[in-house]
Amino acid sequence: MAIVIIRQDGKASHWKEILLSTSKNIPIYEFGEEHPKEDITMALVWQHPKGSLKQYPNLKCVASMGAGVDFIMADSDISENITITRVVDPMLANDMSEFVIACIYSHLKNLSFYGQQESQKSWTRKEYLSKEDVTIGIMGLGELGRTLAKDLQHQGFQVQGWANSRKEGIHTFLGKKELTQFLSTTSILVCLLPLTEDTRNILDKELFKKLPKDAYVINVARGGHLVEKDLLNMVDSGHLSGASLDVFSQEPLPQDHPFWGHPNIHITPHIASISSPKSIVPQILENYNRLAKGEQLKNVVSTSKGY
Ligand code: NDP
Repeated sequence: MAIVIIRQDGKASHWKEILLSTSKNIPIYEFGEEHPKEDITMALVWQHPKGSLKQYPNLKCVASMGAGVDFIMADSDISENITITRVVDPMLANDMSEFVIACIYSHLKNLSFYGQQESQKSWTRKEYLSKEDVTIGIMGLGELGRTLAKDLQHQGFQVQGWANSRKEGIHTFLGKKELTQFLSTTSILVCLLPLTEDTRNILDKELFKKLPKDAYVINVARGGHLVEKDLLNMVDSGHLSGASLDVFSQEPLPQDHPFWGHPNIHITPHIASISSPKSIVPQILENYNRLAKGEQLKNVVSTSKGY
């Protein structure tokens, strides 16, 4: 039984080192180095190259090295008898929550506007908003969305959510039927949905029209959720007051993209919350040990739901 790490961002060696420092006895290989293909039972992947999993005849588990699994779901080489797992990590949820809350306060207090004013040495005051003025609507009340909801409530924000099933302690709107009602009462919309067939391109013109005028959009989930030209049109037409975006349909964002330099669209390079090897390695090793003993794995993804 061996593990292969497949990722193309140059971080595979770092992950391998940390895995080996925690558990010296497990054979761990980086994709690309010489290794016996038939020994591999577990693949740790992040944006793995197409076709890379095909060569492992005894693969039993494909583990996402992050919270998202959309890139795994899109891989037709993965057969039904392979278990897909993902990261569930309180640190990841906490980092995401802090990031989104920072975006919300930055919007309420016009911090990006003042950043632009400062570079022009301009002393211009603008009216600000307080938490009482807004209702935060979170699309997706999973591992990350629920933590954010709790943290916002703790700070005194009005919070509501949208999901497939009701959640305790937060006013939840359910599915397509209640989406319009959810949107019409949301002034800051946060997308924390998984990217699935149902949610791809969900943040489009029709959805934005249902938000009240001057609503603000924060997308920290996946670029595939957003129809970028629709957002641009709705911000430029004045229906939306602006957006904070951490994820994009093409990353890195192309140099000539109209989001760059837009005064009301604030972008960050997919850094809202980054999986920390120290925090995640123990759960990878736990699943490896469970796999060895034939036990049920943790954090298994539903292939029928796609998340
Ligand atoms: P989860 O899978 O834990 O939660 C998904 C939530 O979305 C659930 O509440 C689910 O409802 C809801 N949902 C799914 N499909 C629908 C639908 N069609 N209609 C209504 N609700 C739906 O996801 P996470 O919280 O772990 O991750 C959220 C997103 O954040 C992912 O896209 C992930 O890729 C992204 N992410 C981004 C990072 C960044 O740095 N920008 C870092 C980490 C993650 P129910 O509970 O009823 O099933």
